[in-house]
Amino acid sequence: MTPKILYIEDNDLNFYLVNFILSAKGYEVVRARDGREGIDLARTAPPHLILLDIQLPVMDGYATASELRTHPGLASIPIVALTSYAMAGDREKAIAAGCTGYIEKPINPKTFTEQVEPYLVPVTPGETSR
Ligand code: MN
Repeated sequence: MTPKILYIEDNDLNFYLVNFILSAKGYEVVRARDGREGIDLARTAPPHLILLDIQLPVMDGYATASELRTHPGLASIPIVALTSYAMAGDREKAIAAGCTGYIEKPINPKTFTEQVEPYLVPVTPGETSR
C-alpha cells in the first residue's frame, strides 16, 4: 500500500516542492491549505503521516497539532512540523503542541526524504513515542 502523507501548507511553492520530492519516491501526497481543512481531511481519511506548516491561516500549526491530538483516531499518527530556521522557539512549541518531531525549513531536496522516512516507521504497541 502506498503510504499517504497529508501536508498542511498554505504556501504553493513549498507544497509543490515537497509534493515533487515525495511523489517521485512513490508516496501519495494530499494537501490541505489551512489547519481546519487539514483536520477535516485527516478525520475523513487518516494518513500515515502529517507534515505541518506552522504559519497557517485560520489556525496556526500549534493549534492544529493540539486539535489533531484530541481525536482518538488521530492520536498516534506522526505529525512532523516544518519550522522556520529563524524561529528557534518553534521547535519546542511544536513538540509541546503534540508534534512528533520537526524538520527545519528551508526544505533541502537532497535530504528531505531521509528526514521524513524515519517518522513513517510503524511504532509497535508499548513503544514510547519518538
Ligand atoms: Mn505558511
